[in-house]
Amino acid sequence: MKRYCIAANWKMNKTIPETRDFLRAFLPLVKDIKDRDVVISPPFTALSAAADALKGSGVKLSAQDVFWEEKGAYTGEVSPAMILDAGCSHVIVGHSERRQYFSEDDVIVNRKVKAARKAGLEVIFCVGESLEEREAGRTFDIIKRQVETGLAEVGPENLVVAYEPIWAIGTGRTATVEQAQEVHAFIKKVLGILYGNKAESLRIIYGGSVTTENVDNLMACEDVSGALVGGASLKAESFARIVSFK
Ligand code: PEP
Repeated sequence: MKRYCIAANWKMNKTIPETRDFLRAFLPLVKDIKDRDVVISPPFTALSAAADALKGSGVKLSAQDVFWEEKGAYTGEVSPAMILDAGCSHVIVGHSERRQYFSEDDVIVNRKVKAARKAGLEVIFCVGESLEEREAGRTFDIIKRQVETGLAEVGPENLVVAYEPIWAIGTGRTATVEQAQEVHAFIKKVLGILYGNKAESLRIIYGGSVTTENVDNLMACEDVSGALVGGASLKAESFARIVSFK
């Protein structure tokens, strides 16, 4: 049976007090859920406070980004060791907002994945096509390039792949179960070429306007092993309902 991974991505939302309030409400709602991985990704400033509040809960902590160097003159950047030090076990790498607003290309994403993995972090590696690319029939080419370059010289351990069609992120426009399943099956095939039968246990999670209404159907897809949730993860009750999908 697959072990699902449901991860919240808070993006640039929530102060330290707001993070504590969220967890005070959220943790009791999910305390009996043991058969799936639950991850929250607050902004850097709230990681330590979240780590304290999560102690003993089983809920895991992720950063939303990481730099590839270990230390030095890189103003504003945060190293993999610093993220571990703040209490994280996970980090999101290659989110489309990083690619879009901060010019991260596949080579940069690959450096980040390698550095995070070397430090012992589990990586939630994001890929996804834009609307323009989908409409031009380029979805599979784009995904293949992102996976092959982003995961070059990276083994299959401690890796979760997130498929996030850009046109579905924060837009309220979710991929249909057929669209999600089709791309997940394709990613599985590409990972199979990279990793052979070691790819079979790799989880491919879906992100893009996941809500309490659509989560049950999306999670029922054969090759969908979890969700990366933005907007609907900001309220304790709605994220708890998503985590408790049937
Ligand atoms: C995300 O940014 O990872 C995401 C999927 O956002 P939303 O759920 O708001 O579409």
